[in-house]
Amino acid sequence: MTHDKNTRFRKAYRPAADNRAPVDKVLAALDKVKSTGPGKWLALCPAHDDKRPSLSVRETEDHRVLLKCWAGCGAAEIVNALRLSLADLFPGDRRSLTEHGTGPLRKPFDYRDALTGISTEAITVRFIAGALARGETLDDSAVNRLAVAEQRISDALSAAGGAKC
Ligand SMILES: [Zn+2]
Repeated sequence: MTHDKNTRFRKAYRPAADNRAPVDKVLAALDKVKSTGPGKWLALCPAHDDKRPSLSVRETEDHRVLLKCWAGCGAAEIVNALRLSLADLFPGDRRSLTEHGTGPLRKPFDYRDALTGISTEAITVRFIAGALARGETLDDSAVNRLAVAEQRISDALSAAGGAKC
């Protein structure tokens, strides 16, 4: 595991045009995928020099994707290597948020609501960053929570009119 520390936090903003299920996106990007049971797969880990499939992929009942590399690669490193983002591990709510309220009867966008939401996400991220700073290892739920934060903030951005980039 030799990783540039920055790559794991590299931001991957991309249009949310891909409406495939998270697990389909992940499996399509992986090599040597083998089903090991319902909602379970093994594949070559893209984040380290993997000779035998050591990446376990699981789809949860709510269609999130859990990634576990037995060599210890983090979920962020794995999705980076697949050119996906952590938000791709979650079913997209982007569509509902961006489609909600479109049309002639669109309600005015509530900036206060959006900023309140972003503020909550920022506190969450600070909390997790604090744990990292203390040298704690992030477990899957913390990593997944960061992905939720990323998704909620980009949802707020889309709802406000989208990114100019
Ligand atoms: Zn790995």
